[in-house]
Amino acid sequence: LSVEAKLGLDLFHTDEENSHIDVDLECTDEEEIRKLVLACPAECYKYIDGKFSFSYLGCLECGTCRVLSHDKIVKGWKHPHGEIGVSFRQG
Ligand code: SF4
Repeated sequence: LSVEAKLGLDLFHTDEENSHIDVDLECTDEEEIRKLVLACPAECYKYIDGKFSFSYLGCLECGTCRVLSHDKIVKGWKHPHGEIGVSFRQG
């Protein structure tokens, strides 16, 4: 299976009301924004026509954005509680 096909098998139990990642969407530092857009394997970060957006739905909980951001854009990051979050089905 390709990586994309394996990721497509994952299950998500998402808390639709509470994000486990706190993102500063007012940030205007394009270099920092582009780092997150390029690095996030789930494409949770978008920067289109100068507009920065984020959706935690589909987050793979890899922690890459937390490490890259150094608190510049990602202001808080924690694993979802209990049964919430991603369940990997292919490693
Ligand atoms: Fe993307 Fe990983 Fe950050 Fe989730 S934890 S938003 S998958 S970089």
